[in-house]
Amino acid sequence: MKILVLNCGSSSLKYQLFNMDDESVMAKGLVEKIGLSDSILTHQPANQDKVKIETSIPEHGVAIELVVKALLDEKHGVIKDMKEIDAVGHRTIHGGTSFTESCIITDDVIAEMERLVDLAPLHNPPSILGIRACQDKMPGIPMVGVFDTAFHQTMDAAHYLYGLPYEYYEKYQMRRFGFHGTSHRFVSIRCRELLGNPEHSKIITCHLGNGSSIAAIVDGKVIDTSMGYTPLEGLVMGTRCGDLDPAILPFLMRKEGLDADALDAVINKKSGLLGISGVSSDMRDIEAAAADGNERAQVAMEIFRKTVIHYIGAYAAEMNGVDAILFTAGIGENDIANRAAICENLSYLGVEFDKEANDCRGKEVMISTPNSKVKVFVIPTNEELMIARDTAALVK
Ligand code: AMP
Repeated sequence: MKILVLNCGSSSLKYQLFNMDDESVMAKGLVEKIGLSDSILTHQPANQDKVKIETSIPEHGVAIELVVKALLDEKHGVIKDMKEIDAVGHRTIHGGTSFTESCIITDDVIAEMERLVDLAPLHNPPSILGIRACQDKMPGIPMVGVFDTAFHQTMDAAHYLYGLPYEYYEKYQMRRFGFHGTSHRFVSIRCRELLGNPEHSKIITCHLGNGSSIAAIVDGKVIDTSMGYTPLEGLVMGTRCGDLDPAILPFLMRKEGLDADALDAVINKKSGLLGISGVSSDMRDIEAAAADGNERAQVAMEIFRKTVIHYIGAYAAEMNGVDAILFTAGIGENDIANRAAICENLSYLGVEFDKEANDCRGKEVMISTPNSKVKVFVIPTNEELMIARDTAALVK
């Protein structure tokens, strides 16, 4: 079975074609600058060089057409007929409370996604565009939606409600949703396998990248997660502020004369590691500047570590214990120094950190000693594969 996985942004489209017989990637690529004059498609067949195709790509329909053409191309294609694609899996971001798991995309599903646009005005419209473009350009091929929020829908009201008047929950669904769900699900499934698939497990998954979130997972179900109504809450991220005293927001609006959109830009795009350090949103740059003696970069890094340690402690307390903690995504998979600094602060939980095992990047590894009461793993995430697996399971 061959599954095409699509992740549509407003001006970009990422794709991977999986052969589900062995879960290998046959080809992958990226369309950038959709709608601009200098659009470009970068296509990479497995074990071959990248091919760059520069052409006008005015909208998502043309992008899909080009992707299919690249997959079918005589030289750098990997299939002979579009009918070889058994299904398309779409990364659909916000499923609200309507979607608790992945589902086959029907007209009703698209209508519900449209109704949810208010909750994710930046992310849901491009997903819908991508779905409609596929309906048009790949007629008859079944499609599946895999929602970033779905895995967190097992949270109960005590974990998803905010301390706000209840009417806002009723009027606007003002509640915690959580994000990165497909990643938390992928790595937590793998973690349970590594633990020997016990009947009961308490796991803390730390997805630490440009955007970061942590989840507390009991017996495979999320009970709490650090991102909230939007992906802004929780950890200090590349450019997002994370947790704040909410009174700061009206104060800044008054003092700086900011309207709602300008404030939104400050807390989403100018805060976090970038805002504190003034150097960069990228952890590698922060680490380099900190090593050069930049004090603001040093404190930005300390704040990042502190917030991760804070959430791990909070979730271990909420679950009344923890069996395993895992790190994933760009920082979680690659950042030896940050992982070490975080793990060295977890001995109170029963973590025996293995410094030597930690000395590696981008691979699955246990970084606690074999005798450690709480196991700590690095598990590379693979959201695209999770989407492909869900898609294959649903269309079978
Ligand atoms: P992601 O959003 O998952 O792609 O992660 C991006 C983040 O991972 C950026 O902050 C990068 O600086 C960070 N990152 C990637 N590789 C490394 C590395 N070798 N050491 C430290 N941070 C890294």
